[in-house]
Amino acid sequence: MISRIIKDETVRRLRHLIADAGKIAIICHVGPDGDAVGSSLALAHVLGALGKEARCIIPDATSSLLMQLPEAKELVDACKHPDFARTLLREADLIFCLDFNDPKRVDRMADALLAARASKVMIDHHENPVDFTTIAISQPEMAATCYVLFRVLCRLELLPYIDSVASTLMLAGILTDTGGFAYNSSDPELFEVVAELLRHGADKDGLIRLLFNTVSENALRLNAYAMDRKLEVDRGMGAALITLSRAELNRYHYCKGDTESLVNKPLAIPGVVYSCFMREEEKYIKVSMRSKGDFPVNEICAEHFGGGGHLNAAGGEFHGTLEEAAEAFRALMAENKKKYINKKQ
Ligand code: 5GP
Ligand code: MN
Repeated sequence: MISRIIKDETVRRLRHLIADAGKIAIICHVGPDGDAVGSSLALAHVLGALGKEARCIIPDATSSLLMQLPEAKELVDACKHPDFARTLLREADLIFCLDFNDPKRVDRMADALLAARASKVMIDHHENPVDFTTIAISQPEMAATCYVLFRVLCRLELLPYIDSVASTLMLAGILTDTGGFAYNSSDPELFEVVAELLRHGADKDGLIRLLFNTVSENALRLNAYAMDRKLEVDRGMGAALITLSRAELNRYHYCKGDTESLVNKPLAIPGVVYSCFMREEEKYIKVSMRSKGDFPVNEICAEHFGGGGHLNAAGGEFHGTLEEAAEAFRALMAENKKKYINKKQ
């Protein structure tokens, strides 16, 4: 049995908003991952089956792997088509905000999102939601937005509209955000939802192959180089750091998504409690962090890198050189150890 978490009143209001909407826009966070893309496309697919005109906007491109998900060709990349993306937001009657809870997370589309006259509905699982939507379905204890979305669709009695495409897309988000049920996935009801997705035709084997067992030769070599030459481990501090400069990325013809799982790997080293990966982008340094146990990388990313995320998976940005970013991280290690690792002593 799946418990009722979403309030009856919320379900009733959402049902009305969908019934009254002609045009619907769906938008997710910048740097769209499997959960952002999966939830957006799944919702668009179900709304399409209901006869609604629903379009998905991504603030910037996603990886070529995620572009192989069903219906990914329908995504409107706001980097490539900024005017069209803005028009979709302006003309929408209803906007779904999926897998983010702060307008800043849609980057260059934030002004257009906030200015849009449409009612807005947040479906998300990050902590500390910002109050900018008409309805906020915020479930930080849940593993993925796709998991929350499935529960919302159930409550809306839209289960019959969830076909193999929608269920594959929702399973994609659950698999990505739990690392294939490696973390953040001890909730028994999550597996009941997965069982239901499989009954509705989700292609689990195809997803595992695509999401976890497909890599380009360049990406494989880049990850091997990063691990061999760029990994710094300070076991005493419980920390690991990997940095990659533009020049290094260019040498391996870096494409979006090529370093997706790199930051997780050093966590396998005994004694490493948290891991940081810094990648030099054009205008800033992208920071990604992962941790084990109760070490809160979201707090560190919020406090020092203008970002946020979850307890064990978070990110942010650093404005400066890659070496300055690395130094900033190293400078934090002693304080982090005292504050989070030795706190019980
Ligand atoms: P990743 O390291 O894969 O980019 O992100 C890990 C988690 O942190 C995701 O849940 C993502 O939503 C969140 N995250 C990543 N970058 C940022 C950021 O710049 N700001 C905030 N608020 N969250 C981020
Ligand atoms: Mn997510």
